[in-house]
Amino acid sequence: MSGPKPSLVWFRRDFRLTDNPALRAAADRGGPVVPVFVWSPGEDGDWPIGAASKVYLHHALLALAEALEKAGSPLVIRVGDSAAGELARVARAVGAESICYNRLYEPQMIAQSAAVKEALRDEGVEVKGFDGNILMPPWELKTGAGTPYSVYTPYWKSMRKAACIPEPLPAVGKLGKSSKSPASKTVEDLDLLPSIPWDESILAYWKPYIGEKNAWSQFERYLSGDAAEYSDLRNLPARDATSHMSPALHWGEVSPRQLFHAIEEKKKGTTSDSIRKSYETYQSEIAWRDFSAYVMFHFPHTSTDPLKPEFDAFPWNEVTEENFGRWRRGQTGYPIVDAAMRQLWAIGWMHNRCRMIVASFLCKDLRLHWIEGAKWFYDTLVDADLCSNNMGWQWSAGCGADAQPFFRIFNPIGQGEKFDPDGAYIKQWCPELSNVPPKFIHKPWEMNRGELELCGVLLGRDYPEPMVDHKTERQKALDGYEKVKEAKR
Ligand code: FAD
Repeated sequence: MSGPKPSLVWFRRDFRLTDNPALRAAADRGGPVVPVFVWSPGEDGDWPIGAASKVYLHHALLALAEALEKAGSPLVIRVGDSAAGELARVARAVGAESICYNRLYEPQMIAQSAAVKEALRDEGVEVKGFDGNILMPPWELKTGAGTPYSVYTPYWKSMRKAACIPEPLPAVGKLGKSSKSPASKTVEDLDLLPSIPWDESILAYWKPYIGEKNAWSQFERYLSGDAAEYSDLRNLPARDATSHMSPALHWGEVSPRQLFHAIEEKKKGTTSDSIRKSYETYQSEIAWRDFSAYVMFHFPHTSTDPLKPEFDAFPWNEVTEENFGRWRRGQTGYPIVDAAMRQLWAIGWMHNRCRMIVASFLCKDLRLHWIEGAKWFYDTLVDADLCSNNMGWQWSAGCGADAQPFFRIFNPIGQGEKFDPDGAYIKQWCPELSNVPPKFIHKPWEMNRGELELCGVLLGRDYPEPMVDHKTERQKALDGYEKVKEAKR
């Protein structure tokens, strides 16, 4: 008697063998398991994968392929116009009778999944979707009135009350291999790496994190160290004391449920209120990630437009090389902004506090449309994630779910003084300011020429004069906001 026919597992952003519901379901069927990754960038719609993400993806795919090879069933890599077309061809080639995948919640990914379902069902293949990339599926939580939440705190409270975040699944063991080997490209064939190697510093930074094994051991290291002080340290960019799990979460090298439950275990083992508070804050940040997917699922227009449509009336400035270019290059003359933008360029990642500061500066001091900043981040972040990125930008611009009220405009000097008091973060990324004393590190233009000379820095030559006056621009932003208020009336 012959056993079950092969099952395909469609890998998209779930590059792990542990707590992978789609892979687990396919393995549990008992027949051969054929893991498939399809490179079909034409399906990314308005948000083509960014350059830094491609670098990360290249290495993450190599790690996944190695892990699957070890588990007994090599990864099949296909290139095509559509995932649906390629998966149907692979299903035919191996005679698959089922396909399992983990859901994603951005509109273009939902459309891609729908096309896959249709194409594979037409082939007589059973299609099964799972919720492996988030804590809770977005349709499970609703307000008392049955509408989706657009404010985070009640959302988080209802998630905590529901108390049913599933435990992570154990790793799959040996996978059955199909007797038929469908044609496969190599990771190198996808041409994800840049021809000019600008990615060296990014890779040097992230290499120790890439791949399921590495990501998990980095998380364990974090768990036994800085995680206990997360609440106090998470806003201090110089301490660099956040978990750096965002790229691994984006590509699914770890799952949010694994992180959530690992922290839950640590919580049980502590008697310290402050440590418990840190663990809870970390869990709530993981839930912010879920919330961003939740908002994108229920309000799909937020993938390109503001949640609050009245913000279309804001009088944004025209993008020029002088304004946008200086922001991108970290040459605004505001040290905390410049340090952050240079950190992003150097390692493809930026501290969360600084993401908020530079986003506020772009949207309010320069009054450039948030989508310009979102696109730049999307291209340069290794953790670029449409849901989290759009939520972060819309939060900063004041036009998103649970957003920062528009009139609360970050002062880049005050933010620097509060969160990088001695300027250590600034000095790391803007070394030309290394000798500037803490009193002036956030406003070097307040030093006189003699003092500047003593620090070995001449404004306009070694470091720029501030490109705008914050006080003046703040007022202009508030004046512009009147248009938003009028549009809402
Ligand atoms: P930790 O502080 O260790 O947090 C653990 C995890 O919780 C993170 O990995 C992340 O998955 C989640 N998380 C933490 N803060 C947030 C948040 N504010 N929103 C959503 N999830 C959060 N995050 C991305 O993953 N991709 C993006 O493209 C992205 N773009 C952003 C753009 C802006 C303008 C802003 C303000 C924030 C953005 N964030 C984005 C959220 C946040 O900055 C990063 O998730 C965080 O800095 C990643 O570092 P970490 O893993 O060390 O975070």
